[in-house]
Amino acid sequence: MTDLREGAITQILPLPQPNLDNQEFYEATRRGELRFQRCARCGTWRHYPRPACPECHSREYGWELSTGQGRVYSWTIVYGPTLPAFQDDVPYNVVDVLMEEGVHFQSQVLDCQPEEIREGMPVEAIFVPVDDDITLVKFRRNRDA
Ligand SMILES: [Zn+2]
Repeated sequence: MTDLREGAITQILPLPQPNLDNQEFYEATRRGELRFQRCARCGTWRHYPRPACPECHSREYGWELSTGQGRVYSWTIVYGPTLPAFQDDVPYNVVDVLMEEGVHFQSQVLDCQPEEIREGMPVEAIFVPVDDDITLVKFRRNRDA
């Protein structure tokens, strides 16, 4: 049973809660695949997962494999205060990555000190299992790109 005494809940690492829109995304990440929705009518990629295409409003789509490659579009460094669950990680980065497919993906670059992050820095997706259901997508620098 979860301990809900004051403060205790903030010690627990908050994780995504899969729903009808994104459960296929998390099933793919468990297999080590990064997949984004792609409109079956006009071909537009989209992320975050949602039922309809933002361009043509079609509800027909597939879950297509991403290359996992992207470039840092923007970022911030978190120094705190933050939730106790994240306190041991500060300072940490939060990045917006522009993926090769043209979608933005918010996550973290794991092998990068705060002062080393640059706009346009090439990164690649990696998979970080946190429990039986959730595997998070994070990034590492792609030094070959
Ligand atoms: Zn479309």
